Amino acid sequence: MNEKIKLEKTGSSMPSTPDIYDPFDSLRRKNFSDEEYENCFRYFDFQKQGFWTREDFCRFLNALFSNEKRKPYPILSEQIDQYFHETDFNQDKKIDFNEFLQAWKKPIKCAVRPVSALVIVDVQNDFISGSLALHSCPANHEGEEVVPIINQVIRNVNFDVIAYTYDWHPSNHISFYENRHLRKISSKSRVSAAAARVHDKVIFAGSSNLTDTIEQILWPAHCVQNTPGADLHRDLIRIQNAVHVYKGTNPELDSYSAFWDNMKLSKTSLDDQLKERFVTDVYVVGLATDVCVASTATHAVENNYRTVLIEDACRGVSEHAIEVKRIELNQIGCIFVHSDVVPAMVTGEDRRPEIARAIFVENLKTIGRHRPR
Ligand SMILES: [Zn+2]
Repeated sequence: MNEKIKLEKTGSSMPSTPDIYDPFDSLRRKNFSDEEYENCFRYFDFQKQGFWTREDFCRFLNALFSNEKRKPYPILSEQIDQYFHETDFNQDKKIDFNEFLQAWKKPIKCAVRPVSALVIVDVQNDFISGSLALHSCPANHEGEEVVPIINQVIRNVNFDVIAYTYDWHPSNHISFYENRHLRKISSKSRVSAAAARVHDKVIFAGSSNLTDTIEQILWPAHCVQNTPGADLHRDLIRIQNAVHVYKGTNPELDSYSAFWDNMKLSKTSLDDQLKERFVTDVYVVGLATDVCVASTATHAVENNYRTVLIEDACRGVSEHAIEVKRIELNQIGCIFVHSDVVPAMVTGEDRRPEIARAIFVENLKTIGRHRPR
């Protein structure tokens, strides 16, 4: 094993309680009252000293970050040290109740009772059987394959919010190959309008009220507003009271992400609608993994959602680009999972350490206790 990757020993020092016992259950049932946080604190205070040692703290992290069978997820020893250092505000090598409450109240609540949204990205005919069908792209993926998987996720998982996104372009949209002569190409562009082919990146001159230049990959015309190609796949389950988000509606701007256009000049309504519903966790599915799904997941992380990409419910353009996006997304704290594990994640029984870190740090910043090492 790599010297640096030292895993904390787990299991042997766990409390002798039934395997399935979850010390955070009563906290959830009592609606996260401070009294229940006190009980939780006492539970991990093994010596009954009124504070936690590093060992107690380690047991707490192992119990918090565990799966539905209460098996702890491995956490690096140095990560435990870092969490301990950050939670120990007065640096006395002990965690008292007040430190625990301030640092962990919010992260525990998000982990144990998340408010989860399923964001279904662009499951539209043009990406499945139309002008930009994924099966004609380098990875030769079949976009249609996501439909039964997403339907199963909708049926099996109790999401608090479901959102459908639509690529929704006017016919004169900047991203259309057919429109490449409608706008001035910048002198910085390596490809001229005449020489450009589908999938080439060109640089348009931009317009004075938006930006100097606009980099744009040219796609075949697709998802034109109110055309059959822009409809959701006929078999995709439609949920009543869902959130619907339309993107790429400005003729001069493309929008891969369901949160922002590609230049980050204008927001869609998605973030506000999720915040209104107190969403903490965003699960992203749909088309295409390395384009609109990845961009949506990136912005979900940036907007402070714990973010999960359900891998088997996505199809992409290029295998290489999918791998690159996976690495980038993992680095910023978005995890890739199979749809099988999603039900237990949404109920808060399966609690992943990777998606918890950013909320912990954000909370410390909010209470003015963030002290980077
Ligand atoms: Zn588009």
